[in-house]
Amino acid sequence: MTTPAPAVSIVIPVYNEAESLAPLLEELGRVLGTIEGPAEIITVDDGSTDGSFERLRALGAQEPRLRIVRLARNYGQTAAISAGIEHARAPIIVSMDADLQNDPADIPRLLAVLGDDVDVVNGWRNPRQDPWLTRRLPSRLANRLISLVTGTALHDYGCTLRAMRASFAKELQLYGELHRFIPALAADLGARVTELKVHHRPRTLGRSKYGLSRTLRVFLDLLTVKFLSGFSTRPIQLFGLFGLLCGSAGIALTAELGFERLVLGVPLAGRPVVLLAILLVVVGVQFVSLGLLGEMVVRTYHESQAKPIYRVREVVGCIVFTGRHQYACPVMKVFVVGTGYVGLVAGTCFAESGNDVICVDNVVKKVEALRDGAVPIYEPGLEELIRRNVAEGRLTFTTDLAHAVRTSIVVFIAVGTPSGDDGSADLGAVMSVSREIARTMDGYRVVVTKSTVPIGTSERIRAAIGAITTHPFDVVSNPEFMKEGAAIEDFMKPDRVVIGAASARAIETMRELYDPFVRTGNPILVMDNPSAEMTKYAANALLATRISFMNEIANLCERVGADVDHVRRGIGYDRRIGHHFLFPGVGYGGSCFPKDVKAVIHTAREQGIEFPLLNAVEDVNEAQKRRLVEKVTTEFGDDLHGRRFAIWGLAFKPRTDDMREAPSITIVEGLLARGAKLAVHDPEALSEARNLFGDRVTYHRTNYEALEGADALLIVTEWNEFRRPDFPRMKQLLRHPIIFDGRNVYDPEVMREHGFTYLPIGRAVVRAAAASR
Ligand code: NAD
Repeated sequence: MTTPAPAVSIVIPVYNEAESLAPLLEELGRVLGTIEGPAEIITVDDGSTDGSFERLRALGAQEPRLRIVRLARNYGQTAAISAGIEHARAPIIVSMDADLQNDPADIPRLLAVLGDDVDVVNGWRNPRQDPWLTRRLPSRLANRLISLVTGTALHDYGCTLRAMRASFAKELQLYGELHRFIPALAADLGARVTELKVHHRPRTLGRSKYGLSRTLRVFLDLLTVKFLSGFSTRPIQLFGLFGLLCGSAGIALTAELGFERLVLGVPLAGRPVVLLAILLVVVGVQFVSLGLLGEMVVRTYHESQAKPIYRVREVVGCIVFTGRHQYACPVMKVFVVGTGYVGLVAGTCFAESGNDVICVDNVVKKVEALRDGAVPIYEPGLEELIRRNVAEGRLTFTTDLAHAVRTSIVVFIAVGTPSGDDGSADLGAVMSVSREIARTMDGYRVVVTKSTVPIGTSERIRAAIGAITTHPFDVVSNPEFMKEGAAIEDFMKPDRVVIGAASARAIETMRELYDPFVRTGNPILVMDNPSAEMTKYAANALLATRISFMNEIANLCERVGADVDHVRRGIGYDRRIGHHFLFPGVGYGGSCFPKDVKAVIHTAREQGIEFPLLNAVEDVNEAQKRRLVEKVTTEFGDDLHGRRFAIWGLAFKPRTDDMREAPSITIVEGLLARGAKLAVHDPEALSEARNLFGDRVTYHRTNYEALEGADALLIVTEWNEFRRPDFPRMKQLLRHPIIFDGRNVYDPEVMREHGFTYLPIGRAVVRAAAASR
């Protein structure tokens, strides 16, 4: 399922209503939470001068459904409503005033009436809370008159609160002051119109912009409506009729006068009737000309040019809109807790797309370093993005979770979920952060799990937060699929975004946030929370399965004399299989695959299901991590005392400094346990390695330095810089020209040419001319 478009658009013209806006949006927010389907609120700032636009902008950071259409100047209510209707995306449009006199609680009632046989439901403010003499009496008279003239009998044409089908609303051609006649104009288009009594509240904030003069204008407008409904597309019919009547009368009179003069000999001089005859002919000609001009005006001005009756200065809020307007994305306040690989990348990318982001971590040193411009992890492109967004004021770092919760609407939890002793995901940090959020919430929040969490965690979080706070909130599962080393690219252009949520409001919020990242058409997939949680585990478990499968195939290839590289390409071109994740190696590692595979096995076990496939995936992986050491002992014997090996690559994969569960750890420990000395190099992970191995190995800044005097080289991570080395120099530095290639980086033929003994994975061994060891 892709994200739903809004089901209802609430259109609110705003002119100098700064004081009413916050309470109005709060009331509306509550009401919209009760209606079925997502809603959007389109406020049209009609050239306010009291700071209404700025107030709306600030409120927009808290209310993701809010869009603000800012008109270039004050055009009047008709233009504002028209702009709102044009920008509305939903099939149903509800218009209302911003002055709090309309009651948002009436919206569900209006929507309920709008059924198969009703297209417009007009509010009827009853009892009306306005002065009798200046407002109610003239309004009553006006309503009677309008009903009589238009033939659409309603009690309250002046009520802005009404629900209507967008199909009719968007067809209305509103000019001048015609918004009051919307029901009559819609009826003229064929809409079925009815009315419903609605609450009318006395004005408590701001002041009315309209007085008696408005009522007087109604009569002129009525004339326009009558003309528009009857003759707007055929003005010649009306003016032509008058013209023909006058002209005919004039001609008849002229004929009569001619007869009197010529036949009866009655003199015409001094008779005013002569002037009347001439006048009638001239007026007749003028009416016909007016009618023709009217035709030209109607067709040229409104139809062919589609002239707008207003100009938009700016629009705040992401609306997928193909019309003539430019859109800016909403500034949403986002807070991400956990500044690890996921949290830091997600927070930075959300800031890059224009949101205000606060990143929180409980490790003070980390936060201080980030504030000082130091990036604690290596991820290509991240440092530059952080620097830019910090400089532009969109990205800040803090340890103060309470402050972040109070100032943000969307709260992402991106803390670690390591494996517990039994293989289950340790949710300690996720749950404690959730409770902390609950304790500080002061209004509606969307709490999003970005961390990979077991199925059912959203429910646990919901219960934990609900037990602490009475404020409304939604829990969303939004698993992250980024790959370390390409995390920015993955986040900015995700293959898909998965959103697990139950509430329309939360879904809409997430869609707003992710819209800028899926402009190229990749989907935002909306599902229930457990399915979203499962999707992440299923993805990682499947990828881990492919890796273990290929490692098994590679091991078999070695035995039967096949080359796994040919096999890999042979199956990869099958579109059902594809090329990704078919590279054999020294096993998978990192912060995700190992723990996520364990977590799926654990969850299955909790449900009474053994998952033999994934158990095997794990076993194969553990064995594969030992493969390279086995190859070394096969070459050099079990006792490696007195041997020295160089290791290129320690991170669990290239382009990261992450060594969590890296196969290099098993390899280093395996060789050390057999008495070997090790000289290690990694472009980014040396400081991580120091934390793990201390002074048990020597660390080298360049790959060649590590080779000096080594009995052989082991390649453990396929960094690009290892792919085209200076082979003659390597041969000189090594005591024996032997390479154990855990990632199949080199071409066996090239190895042969350079005189190396080359031991790859799943491919034939290349033997150099025998040399003493
Ligand atoms: P990480 O260990 O790099 O980062 C976790 C951060 O959370 C740390 O900075 C830690 O200090 C902070 N933290 C922990 N408890 C905290 C608390 N109570 N308050 C504030 N901060 C706290 O982990 P990561 O690699 O970013 O992964 C985070 C989650 O995302 C995990 O569930 C992981 O499985 C998932 N994930 C990771 C990747 C990846 O490539 N690393 C990809 C997809 C999903």
